[in-house]
Amino acid sequence: MSVPFNRLVAKIDLDCIAANYAVLREVAPEPAPVIKADAYGHGLLPVARVLMRAGARTLCVGSVEEACALRAACPHRIVPLLGPLDAADAAAVAEHDLTPYVYREDQLALLAEAAEKADRDVRLALKFDTGMSRLGFRAPDAPRLAAWLREHPRLRLELVASHLATADEPENAAYVQRQRGEFEAICAALRVAGLAFGRTLGNSAGLLAFPELRYELQRPGIALYGANPFGSTPLAALGARLRPAMSVRSVVVQVHPVRAGESVSYGCAFTAAHDMRVAIVAAGYADCYSRALTGKAEMVIRGRRARVLGRVCMQLTAVDVSDIPEARDGDDAWLLGGDGGHPVTPEEVAGWWGTITYEVFCLFGLNRREYVGGGQEGK
Ligand SMILES: *Cc1c(COP(=O)(O)O)cnc(C)c1O
Repeated sequence: MSVPFNRLVAKIDLDCIAANYAVLREVAPEPAPVIKADAYGHGLLPVARVLMRAGARTLCVGSVEEACALRAACPHRIVPLLGPLDAADAAAVAEHDLTPYVYREDQLALLAEAAEKADRDVRLALKFDTGMSRLGFRAPDAPRLAAWLREHPRLRLELVASHLATADEPENAAYVQRQRGEFEAICAALRVAGLAFGRTLGNSAGLLAFPELRYELQRPGIALYGANPFGSTPLAALGARLRPAMSVRSVVVQVHPVRAGESVSYGCAFTAAHDMRVAIVAAGYADCYSRALTGKAEMVIRGRRARVLGRVCMQLTAVDVSDIPEARDGDDAWLLGGDGGHPVTPEEVAGWWGTITYEVFCLFGLNRREYVGGGQEGK
């Protein structure tokens, strides 16, 4: 899965991911990295390997298929957050000893059947909805689920999970506490019914901002890749030590003068007010450099910022290099990160784009990737 035939390279520094994991480890007892969606575009296997070497003993992925792809490289607990969606998924859960999220009763039936067929125990995590209205059982389901599990000893409950809706929004801390109350009531009901399990609630922001919500397992994603989950909110200091692991570069293919009054790119959306120098970079919306970056984004060329001029095209984008007289054809152009003192941050790109850092990573990561750091096996 990648964007073919282009010049973009997403460079992944695995040492940054290990360092970000170590930062989280200072405050969280058991971070279980979330490496769904190909590790947020950073690459499932290289990221899994570096995190296991850093000490991770539970890894969360998206689909059961992604979990199966990871299994050969990972002897530890693997949690597919999407859960088994059909009988084939359930059979794979049993075969590969996965610990899937379960949030529908028919998933329990599928897993029980798969356990029977494979003649082995199947682990699982019960997923409850405490305020996202996305996936999950609801609190009133708890006694019935406990009774059902007691009758099916082949199914082994390992974790009880829920997910926070507003942990990264300091102004919505009360909602987090409401979810916490609901979550703890559910866990209490399951315990009263005789079940034992680990609890997991917090994502990156939850883990960093709410020490009381760390429980036995934490599920950081975005922080591992080095974006600050708190952006520029009053809690930003909590993520200040995280370092972005991804940088993205392409190449300058032509530099030319544009005279005052001349326009740049489709629709003549930018017209030069004075004489300038313009560099054309081989990157466009076909390479996931979104057209929404038109007229807003900046790149780094020769250590300095160059602003996007006019519309982003399919495979080309114009930037202003009037103040970078040494810019030449063949120069690196950094769409994310970059040399010199002014790397383009994931938060900046997300802001220009009108999205979040998660989407920036997932989409930029569809391009060709190159790895540095992480030791030999990580490559
Ligand atoms: C993606 C995801 C996470 C990780 O969230 P971040 O905000 O990236 O830390 C944790 N739990 C679940 C269920 C998720 O889907």
